Order: sequence, then structure tokens, then C-alpha cells
Amino acid sequence: MSTPRAFDPSSIPAGQFVGGRYAEGSGPADVVVSNPATGDVVATFASANDADVDGAVAAAAAAYPEWSGATPGERSAAMHALAARLEEIADDLAAAETLQTGKSIRMSTEFDVPGTIDNTAFFAGAARNLEGKASGRYSGDHTSSIRREPLGVVGSIAPWNYPLQMAAWKVLPAIAAGNTIVLKPAEVTPFTSLMLAQAATDAGLPDGVVNVVNGPGRTTGTALVGHEQVRMVSFTGSTAVGKQIATTAAATVKRVHLELGGKAPFVVFDDADLEAAIRGAVAGSLINGGQDCTAATRAYVHASRFDDFVSGVAELMGKVVVGDPTDPATDLGALSSAAHRDKVAAMVDRARAAGADVVCGGNAPDRPGFYYEPTLLTGLPQDAEAVQNEIFGPVLVALPFDSDDEAIRLANDTPYGLAASAWTRDVYRAQRAAAEIQAGCVWINDHISIVSEMPHGGYKQSGYGKDMSTYSFEEYTQVKHVMQDLTGDPRKGWHSTVMSA
Ligand code: NAD
Repeated sequence: MSTPRAFDPSSIPAGQFVGGRYAEGSGPADVVVSNPATGDVVATFASANDADVDGAVAAAAAAYPEWSGATPGERSAAMHALAARLEEIADDLAAAETLQTGKSIRMSTEFDVPGTIDNTAFFAGAARNLEGKASGRYSGDHTSSIRREPLGVVGSIAPWNYPLQMAAWKVLPAIAAGNTIVLKPAEVTPFTSLMLAQAATDAGLPDGVVNVVNGPGRTTGTALVGHEQVRMVSFTGSTAVGKQIATTAAATVKRVHLELGGKAPFVVFDDADLEAAIRGAVAGSLINGGQDCTAATRAYVHASRFDDFVSGVAELMGKVVVGDPTDPATDLGALSSAAHRDKVAAMVDRARAAGADVVCGGNAPDRPGFYYEPTLLTGLPQDAEAVQNEIFGPVLVALPFDSDDEAIRLANDTPYGLAASAWTRDVYRAQRAAAEIQAGCVWINDHISIVSEMPHGGYKQSGYGKDMSTYSFEEYTQVKHVMQDLTGDPRKGWHSTVMSA
């Protein structure tokens, strides 16, 4: 890999993108972007206040008639142009993503940016495949048909772990279906969402189809979720905030789509290919610094293989290179913020105090920036905090089990249900795990892989609704029944129920 380019934050002129252009917010200067690799502040923007959110929603509403009235072919062409534009700015997007998140440049270059471009190309194609059901004669005297229609203005709220991909997962199905959107990224990672909106304008999407407001959740986010003209809220973030959003959205009876937290189990049966499971557990738990809602967090390993698994994972974790995220040789960059690194460290410290064996890691390296070592914990009971709650850092907890029944029971024993994996060579075991683990995705002999064609979304308190794939159109469209009389007769048979004369 060649030396990655540096991203110049001054190339982002303001914190809001509304109606096809950058705009200053009118709120306080509380959108503060730091470089997690050094701790330096690299940009500060004024946030969007209520009036700014109002303006962004108005811009989206003004763009809606033209965009929703465009043919699927026209929307598709515009989105293909967006994919091409993202390809042109791919290096800048990767550099910006690494600067604002601290993730390794390899991660940004090989996963975040190509994943976003692939998603854009997928939804450009999918825009032409939206359909209602064919018409039918259900009453004898009528023909019925289904129109699948967009909702109007969608308000979306995204987290900081994958800012570009989460923005794309929100924006693309919404606009492919004919909606217009106001997106609020996390206040610490605004760059790549703004760049995505600018790219949409550069690609020729009409002004106002994609708008971005930045600011804290409690101000800008609340204004967007509560806005009368926003017909749907699509949220990706923590379960706690998702519950607040559902409550706020209820006041205006908005449709709500929630992609929330996870605590993915990683079940290694006694017949598993142990090398594959060890490699999968290290990659699956350290992906994006463990700041991934589907990351492997709880390894349940058959007692007969437990010691070998633990020593194999610890050995491999020890080889992972933690360091400067802009260095292509780095495996694991910094965590997103000082506050988040401290939260991860505090959870590991509490686990240690509760009797966990810290097999490897368990420390923040002594250097500037917000780093944390790859960490493996054992010796904890199922009800321990580190087993039940999201740590959202490079921390894997391993527990032994004795029977298949026990493994599946433990895998299901958290409030979450986003993703899981099962490692076995036995096809019957694999199918049982696929059926009985309560999660929106179950991988067999792998963990983390995603494709644009397949849905992503939770069970239980990991939320409801799907991102990616054509399943997401269920969230971003509404179904209208059109029933047309076929008789032309003014005297209908059913009139007698109210007009007997
Ligand atoms: P968070 O819930 O703290 O914040 C997410 C977004 O919500 C941010 O933009 C924030 O500003 C906004 N927000 C906060 N309070 C709000 C409020 N009251 N009203 C409106 N908006 C508000 O989450 P985070 O810390 O940014 O992200 C990490 C979480 O996201 C983890 O729990 C992770 O599992 C989850 N996540 C889930 C998925 C998924 O697909 N299920 C994907 C990525 C991340």
C-alpha cells in the first residue's frame, strides 16, 4: 500500500450541508472533532439549532416532489453517478474517516470506503426494482392494486464508529425509494457525512435530497426526531438512546427504525476447526477496535477445546500491531475518544476487580492518543457485567460450556440479539445454531462478513428494521391500496346495508 494521503480538515468549510450547499450552524460551537491518534482538536463547527433543523427539513420537503416524482430509472442514474463520484474521492474519504475516528487506514481503505461505494451501486440498481403487488380482483366487482410509495422527509441519526458506512446505510435506501433525507451524524465524526452530501450534489442529485445537520443528540438530534414534518426516524446507535428516540417519535406517530447495540456470541463447538475459530475470534473481536455492534464479544468454547482456544487467541492478539492509524502497517488504531477509551478501561478494571483473569492486554498504552490493547478475559460468570453489557472496545471474554444446549442457552442470555456465530463442522449443529440463536444474523464458521444484498438488523433489544438489501425498502416505503370499481353501476349491492329503500 502506498503512503496514505493526509486529510485537510479546512477543506470542510462549515458544519451543515443544506439544500445543496455548506452552511454555518446557528447553535453553539459544540461540534468538536479530535484526532483520536493524538488527542488534538482538528475542527470545530457551530451546531444546528432548532431553526437550522427546521431549515434542513424545509429543504428536504421542497426537494421531495421532484425526487419522489422522478422515475426509478432517473433516480438510479443519479445514484450511479454518486457511486462514481465516491470512487473519485475515495482516498480523501478514507483519510478523513481515519482522521476523525482513529481507525487504521487499512480499515478505511479496504472496508469502509469500498463498502460504501458498493452499497451505493447496489441501491442505484435496487431503485429500479421497487414494486407493489400485481393487481387482482378480490371482490368480484373491483380490481385492487398496491402502490409502494416513499414516506416523505426521513430523519436519520448515526453513530461515530463507522461514520461513512452508517451514513450510507441510512441515506441510500431512503433516497433510492424516493424519500429525501436529513441526516445527523455523531457530533464527533461529521466529516465524511458532509462529504457524502457534497458528493451527492456533485453527482447531480437535486439540491435538498441529501441534507446533513450536525450537533449533539440532546439538541440537534431531539429537534430532528420531534419535527412534525419528518415522517420517519431511522436511528443507529445505543439501545439506551434508541429507547429515548422511540419515545420522542411517538408524539408525532413517526415510523421508527432502530439499529441498536449488540453483544455477539461466538460459539465454538468441540468439532470446530480451532485454527479457523481462533483467527475468526481475533479478527471478529478487534475489528474497528471492537467498536462494531456485531463484533465477537462473548466466546463460548466447549470445555475440551477451551485452553487451546484461549492460548491461541492470546498469542495472536499479542501479534496485532497497535499504533498510528495512518501507518499502513498498523492493525489497530486508536479508539474513538478519550471518554470512550476510559469507559472501556473502566469496564476491564471492574472485571479484573471482580476476579477476571486478564489473559492478555488490559491496559491503555502509555502514549498520546486514545489507544487500548487487545484484551482477552476469562474466569467470569455469565452474569458478569463484561459478559452482559456492551464494552465496545478490543475486548473478548471467553467462557467454557459442556453441552450444545448450554451453549445455545448462554448465547441467548443477554438482552441483545444483533449477530452471532457458530463454529462447527457438523451440518446439523450448524443448522440448529442458525435456528435457535436469537439474532438478526448468524454466521457459520465466520464472523463479521457483510454484503450489500443481505439485510442487517436486530432481534430483541438490538432493535427492529433492516439496513442494506431490498428488505430495507420495507422501512423506507409505505404501501397504499388502490381499489377501483369495475362495474360502472351507481347502485352497488352493498349500499343496501345503509340504504334499504
Ligand atoms: P449513541 O446512541 O450515543 O449516539 C448515536 C447518535 O445518537 C449520535 O448521533 C448522537 O448524537 C445521537 N443522540 C444521542 N442522544 C440523542 C437523543 N436523545 N435524541 C436524538 N439523537 C441522539 O451511540 P454511539 O455511542 O454514537 O454509537 C455506539 C452505539 O451504536 C453502540 O451501542 C453500537 O452497538 C451501536 N451501533 C449499532 C449498529 C447497528 O447496526 N445495530 C451499528 C453501529 C453502532
